[in-house]
Amino acid sequence: MAAVSSVEPNKVQGPSGFLELHGHMLVVDYGQVYMEGNPVGFLFEDGYLSQSKVTKPIEEIHGCVFRGIDANGIALELPTGTAGPSGKLIYNGVTLNVTNGRIGTLDHRLVGEMEDDGTVYIRDGVNKVARVKLDENSQLTTLFEGKKSDGEPWKHEFVRPLYRKDKSYSDNEIIRYFAEFDKLKTAQKKYVCESMNIWAASGVLQVVRKSEGNCMLGNVKHGAAGVTGVRTGYVTLDREEFEKEITLFAKFGSSAVVSTRFKPYLEVRINLVVAHEFGHQLEFCLSQATQNKIRDLYDARVKLCDTKHPLPPEYEGLSELLTPQQVPERLFISGYARSSKHEYWAECVAAFSVKDSRDYLKKLDPEIYEILLEVVTKPENVMRRVFYDNVLELQSSLRVGNELTANLIN
Ligand SMILES: [Zn+2]
Repeated sequence: MAAVSSVEPNKVQGPSGFLELHGHMLVVDYGQVYMEGNPVGFLFEDGYLSQSKVTKPIEEIHGCVFRGIDANGIALELPTGTAGPSGKLIYNGVTLNVTNGRIGTLDHRLVGEMEDDGTVYIRDGVNKVARVKLDENSQLTTLFEGKKSDGEPWKHEFVRPLYRKDKSYSDNEIIRYFAEFDKLKTAQKKYVCESMNIWAASGVLQVVRKSEGNCMLGNVKHGAAGVTGVRTGYVTLDREEFEKEITLFAKFGSSAVVSTRFKPYLEVRINLVVAHEFGHQLEFCLSQATQNKIRDLYDARVKLCDTKHPLPPEYEGLSELLTPQQVPERLFISGYARSSKHEYWAECVAAFSVKDSRDYLKKLDPEIYEILLEVVTKPENVMRRVFYDNVLELQSSLRVGNELTANLIN
């Protein structure tokens, strides 16, 4: 196969190690191939070797073998041990090249391997694992067209159970989570997708949904925006409250300051009910140590709140109420977050879900922000042990599928 894209060798990091070529042992340093100190070519991680403007797979150069590490420090041998297909791969909408079973990006980063039967392995550069085997829980929509290692033309397709081929992984996950999503109005869909995207794209939604159940609209007892069944974890949202939240979100963004019956006291509210209820489900999936940490953070804040802005004596609720002057120095992301450690966590999850309130949370409560950041970027640090393997495998796949990107949290 000829070179599929022209990439400036210097712009990508190649592997480091030794290259056997025409009986010589050459040094490779971040892709740059040296012979007696002089650069003579460039080796890409996916096994393409570039020499005097010709780029071809290492298999096409007789007797050429590379041994060393890739740009992430994972051991790499080229050609790789097993033969595999060659062709074009569309993975969750991302175009990739497969060369003799090696899956590379258009700029020749090695991201995985593929076998002749369609089995996909991801090269997890974050957790430094050379081959993470995918299954139907972790593999994203896969379309391949090319030939098998024996040259036979081959078309292959994998679509996840109950998934829609034309939609991204995260959209599909949100649709699966929110029962009867199709019946929502356009503005409602937009609201749900906007506030759940970060959880879907990071794989956290899938893991929580499988453990705790999904979310549906229904009639919840008057006055509560939503409840999470303690035993089942299923979420039911009140239809009317859901509508109200969307109107408030459209008007004021993720948070709003509202007046209370206790003049001149005000209460801050977060208008992200779907993410809030999801937060209760997520709490069940956190390790005991993380749950204890959240409890301690909550307790410390309540204490401080009691001294800094005690509640008016005639008020019987538990929310943080503030005079207009106190609003900028509030201690909780919302008034309701003060009412219990569970509501504190759920309101922080809600706030973390969209950019403006996430930025505010980072300043207001950096410790809880750090835990939430770990849920998305290092779930193994904060989730229960039973979820580790699934979430890490899924996340390695989501990175290749361009869902879990560096700018998901920006
Ligand atoms: Zn709640």
